[in-house]
Amino acid sequence: MPADRTIRPRTEQRTIGTRALRPESLMMSYGYDPHLSEGALKCPVFQTSTFVFERAEAGKAFFELAYGLREKGPTEELGLIYSRLNNPDLEVLEDRLTLWDEAEACAVFESGMAAIATSLLTFVRPGDVLLHSEPLYGGSDYFVRHYLPELGVEPVEFPAGVSFERVEPDIRKRLKGKRLSAALIETPANPTNGLVDIAALARLSRAVAPKGTRPVVMVDNTFLGPLWQHPLAHGADLVIYSATKFIGGHSDVIAGACLGPADLVSKVRTLRTFTGTMAGPWTGWLLLRSLETLKMRMTAQAKNAGYVAEMLAGHRKVKRVHYLGLMPEDDPMFEVYRRQCLSPGSMISFEVEGGEKAAFRFLNALHLVKLAVSLGGTESLAEHPATMTHADVTPAEQRRFGITPGMVRLSVGVEHYEDLIADIAQALKQV
Ligand code: PLP
Repeated sequence: MPADRTIRPRTEQRTIGTRALRPESLMMSYGYDPHLSEGALKCPVFQTSTFVFERAEAGKAFFELAYGLREKGPTEELGLIYSRLNNPDLEVLEDRLTLWDEAEACAVFESGMAAIATSLLTFVRPGDVLLHSEPLYGGSDYFVRHYLPELGVEPVEFPAGVSFERVEPDIRKRLKGKRLSAALIETPANPTNGLVDIAALARLSRAVAPKGTRPVVMVDNTFLGPLWQHPLAHGADLVIYSATKFIGGHSDVIAGACLGPADLVSKVRTLRTFTGTMAGPWTGWLLLRSLETLKMRMTAQAKNAGYVAEMLAGHRKVKRVHYLGLMPEDDPMFEVYRRQCLSPGSMISFEVEGGEKAAFRFLNALHLVKLAVSLGGTESLAEHPATMTHADVTPAEQRRFGITPGMVRLSVGVEHYEDLIADIAQALKQV
């Protein structure tokens, strides 16, 4: 395939007559033209570091676009240059990912942390403030609260799971006179499932930012995945994923993604090019395969989680269950849940009676559910946030975030729910 031909005749593939096709109907074909790849039904793995230019003039034109030396022509596409800049597996994947969040553009990374770090570093500068919710995933927490301050970026935190009216006065006071350039929120939060009102946070961030500036509001949407929450529709500027989780969905690949308007994603992509944090073609291909079953997997997982959460909530050895589907209607966050989330998803945290010892006895007794960190895969996984994913967070901060010694985090997979319940019930007997 010559490098100056596009393999992405996209727009005409999205409708039949006047009917707009749903994302799940497009996951097998969108953005890929078999005729440009010897008729292969599936997008091949373009395992190549570089692409041959048909003529020197073509190479010059591609570089002019890649480096922003001139405006793109009305029908011009960036040609294939070098796999750190672009590669067909990534381009098709990025186009398909935009469909779920109705985003203009997407950039894919070799990990969720690469997506988070590259996106943050694109928009924060020394002397800026970064507003963030807490808790954050342990890796993001370390990057935001320990690494960014070394670069002169001040993190200002607020708790997830608390109504915005309660946290707003404190945020306003602490941001007064400061240069807010970005906000990073995780909703639902890992591991507590605490929610943040995205629209209210975006409004507040824009209201307190210095005149003439617009902070970039980023939402880590890993917990509900592209199916169950669409942060861009609620006022976020960028949505970020650890694609290792639901998007990959089989616990066999590490990847990340950042989606949003073309101008912002293009800035993130520029830093991705210069830091080399892009995903490779094989990762791209694996994720293309995963996307074909995304809706089926996430729907089955969410259904199973409902049964498992119900069982846990009625168990005498379980103190508390943090699962969106069990949020009472009089909870101050219930309205946010209703407005923002399309399903409770399949992440459950619960606290067993008896602290760490009891939690470990439970985890060690599981058979079908595997004892491993990560989430969103076809198999159910359980872990202990206080000593595993959030081990870097001090005990005092863990207490503040609601991460208790008896807390277990459960990612519910696609097994038969009765088998999952049987396994969890026998493990709880050991507590
Ligand atoms: N965000 C959340 C909510 C996560 O749970 C994780 C990983 O567990 C990450 C980001 C980081 O993703 P990755 O492990 O793909 O770098």
